Amino acid sequence: MTGRIAVALVSVLVVVAPVPAVAAPETDALRGPSVLDGRVVVIDPGHQLGNRNFPRRIKRLVPAGGFRKPCNTTGTATNGGYPEASLTWDVALRLRERLRALGAEVRMTRHSNRPDRWGPCVDERGRAGNRLDDGGAADLKISIHADGSFARGAHGFHVIAPPDRRPWTHDIFRSSRRFALATRAALVDRGLTRATYVAGGDGLDVRRDLGTLNLSDVPTVMVELGNMRHPRDAATMSRGRGRERYARALATAVRRFLALEKCQVTVSPCRNGYGSREHPRAFARLPS
Ligand code: ZN
Repeated sequence: MTGRIAVALVSVLVVVAPVPAVAAPETDALRGPSVLDGRVVVIDPGHQLGNRNFPRRIKRLVPAGGFRKPCNTTGTATNGGYPEASLTWDVALRLRERLRALGAEVRMTRHSNRPDRWGPCVDERGRAGNRLDDGGAADLKISIHADGSFARGAHGFHVIAPPDRRPWTHDIFRSSRRFALATRAALVDRGLTRATYVAGGDGLDVRRDLGTLNLSDVPTVMVELGNMRHPRDAATMSRGRGRERYARALATAVRRFLALEKCQVTVSPCRNGYGSREHPRAFARLPS
């Protein structure tokens, strides 16, 4: 490199460098593919379709975080016969596509939706993402389910986070709660209704009996997308457009949560990083 070119280059850098800082609002750091670049997300698409065909295997007791629990269950279905396994599988694939497009690496806890397959057990789901091949851990894990309540009028989604239970979830209960808040906000923003029949009506539940949450060492939530036995929820779930709505909401939740966690570390780039839609009031009251 000659001196003249070097000088020219330096002057270009001097002129160019300050421009993005002025032109790009802080919110840009939270949008676009770079937000999820290099992030590892585990998606747990719930029960395998074939679980009902392997009753002995799915009843086997496995560790679930200080107690034992059956490996898995069959899941529920709409009254029209659309199985929970197929719903969660389809939403998981749509979510995976969106997250990959945003730069994330996605790991799934199951790789098919087939009547001749079963599992994986809750202990395997719970540990998924704790230790990756490179020795690191996933950035978060989202477990996708849907409920099957016959209570009259019961409908809407709820998000389940783990409580503070030493030694199981003490390391992740705070971050998981933040992820749960982000997930609830994203689902509400997509026009989905908080569950009317569980969790006190606020769409947010805390449960200590779920191996999938208890065994996780990375921030995690389980989302019950709605009540498959309710006609309106079932109608949303049975249509591709409805499932796309869930997937979009969950992708937003992942993006918001990971952006928020980055803010917890760096603080300043994110101070004004959320607009009114991006920064629901709930975040203002986050536990430390
Ligand atoms: Zn389920």
